[in-house]
Amino acid sequence: MTASYSPPPYIGRFAPSPTGPLHLGSLVAAMASYLDARSHNGTWLVRIEDVDGDRNVDGADRHILASLQRCGMLWDGEATWQSQRTGLYEAALAHLDDHVYPCGCSRKEIADAQLALRGRQAQALIYPGTCRHGLAPGRAARALRLKVPQPHHTIAFVDRWHGIVTQNLSDEAGDFVIKRADGYWAYQLAVVADDGAQGVTDIVRGADLLDSTPRQIYLQQLLNLPQPRYLHVPLVVNERGEKLSKQTGAPAFDNGASVGELLATALLPAARLLGMELSAASIAEFWRVALPAWQRLMRDQPLV
Ligand code: GLU
Repeated sequence: MTASYSPPPYIGRFAPSPTGPLHLGSLVAAMASYLDARSHNGTWLVRIEDVDGDRNVDGADRHILASLQRCGMLWDGEATWQSQRTGLYEAALAHLDDHVYPCGCSRKEIADAQLALRGRQAQALIYPGTCRHGLAPGRAARALRLKVPQPHHTIAFVDRWHGIVTQNLSDEAGDFVIKRADGYWAYQLAVVADDGAQGVTDIVRGADLLDSTPRQIYLQQLLNLPQPRYLHVPLVVNERGEKLSKQTGAPAFDNGASVGELLATALLPAARLLGMELSAASIAEFWRVALPAWQRLMRDQPLV
């Protein structure tokens, strides 16, 4: 008798930060992850990423959930809130053990040290490693950082949209913060701990997070978590080339819009931005045509 092979179940997720209502940019990410999960007969989770207490906007979580429901994107199980899962982040921190060190530097000190080291071209704030071997006498710990192997440590992965992506973690990310000076858990740690705990197999999200993925893969390796598949969909930008967000003036999703408006101003444009030219007269019809269109789109991606 031969054992039959069953592929691992597909678990995907949409993980919005409740910094404001959904807009066309976040709707595109939600739609892609929803369509990918449904076309694999998978589970689709929704997780509210509210660890950054300073950026949360009151009621934005409920507004986003209502928008997803209004669009017919119904998630499986209960939605989760990161603010209620901090035990998971504590456990991940304990597991990381001596890969983590306290850092006493302020952003200004890091910027100054970087300028001295690399000159005027220095762009992203790469930590120069000042506190790596211990805090200088009299300095208090502000943040917790993860040690990245030096001098070179390259992470490579296959993204289903972008192909092979490589990053020299040491030079391009450096020792990164996993618990912030203001006491909040950093996105990188929380997202990896949650995706691991929820058994997420497939991460579909916006390409603005492409350069965070190698840091997340490195954390997965240290935490002995399986590496999910990744698909980063093209970022939606405005006429000035800026990522759509509340700050760059993206119109907020209107939960009170009629079905006609919803299709014309949200669902059909979001599908078009993903490369799917659809027409539909109802929300049910929209998903009926979007699902095979997504499957065709993915079939035409050479990497799937
Ligand atoms: N919470 C992040 C955001 O809204 C997305 C995180 C993720 O998908 O990994 O930008």
